[in-house]
Amino acid sequence: MRRNGIVLAIDGPAGAGKSTTAQLVAKALDYLYLDTGAMYRTVGLAVVRAGANADDADAVVALAKSVAIDQKAGGDGVHTFLDGEDISLMIRTPKVSDAASRVAVHQGVRDVLVATQQAIGRDGGIVLEGRDTGTAIFPDAELKVFLVADVAERAHRRKLEMAARGERADVALLERQIRERDERDRQTQLRFGPWPSEDAVLVDTTGMSIDVQVAKVVALAQVKIQAES
Ligand code: C5P
Repeated sequence: MRRNGIVLAIDGPAGAGKSTTAQLVAKALDYLYLDTGAMYRTVGLAVVRAGANADDADAVVALAKSVAIDQKAGGDGVHTFLDGEDISLMIRTPKVSDAASRVAVHQGVRDVLVATQQAIGRDGGIVLEGRDTGTAIFPDAELKVFLVADVAERAHRRKLEMAARGERADVALLERQIRERDERDRQTQLRFGPWPSEDAVLVDTTGMSIDVQVAKVVALAQVKIQAES
């Protein structure tokens, strides 16, 4: 067992319920929570703000190296900071989602972010959420969970999320964006080996309430924690 507990990697495509599930599981286990996608989104926002081209590897890697990205838990969830500024809401727009998925293609960006993520999670007692958490970041994670859900339901969930922030969304457009992002993300991840990782536990969240998803993942984690201690 690592010093603070196990490493729990929660992975899956956009809108499968990773964020909500991972945060609540971390709370239930009293573990740290790390949103790795928020880090790519932050680089995406930096690129948009700088007016740089997200497909220009050199420019994007230089930006990724020059910015400070932090996450801190607040009463209303985890907040993300870019050079000290709270950009938690700004990184959730479709424009930044698209930029995030484009910057994530560049190996230099992945190298910078993966090294930081490994350093944060090394001692365990952490729930990491994101695409490569169970492959590139922690191939030796004690538990890997891969959440899936059908595209229509994922688009509907995104719409509700956006509505909660007062934004309007077209489900058909969201569905198209999710499919595009799925394909680009899948191609990016497949460069590093099988995705999902062969030892990941697949959980289909279609039609599942958040409470049920969380209880299921917490139960899986408790079995591992007991086995490790
Ligand atoms: O998980 P989330 O949708 O917030 O991630 C935003 C984008 O960041 C994804 O579309 C993906 O391209 C990228 N990402 C990644 N590796 C991670 C987390 C996110 O490539 N570990």
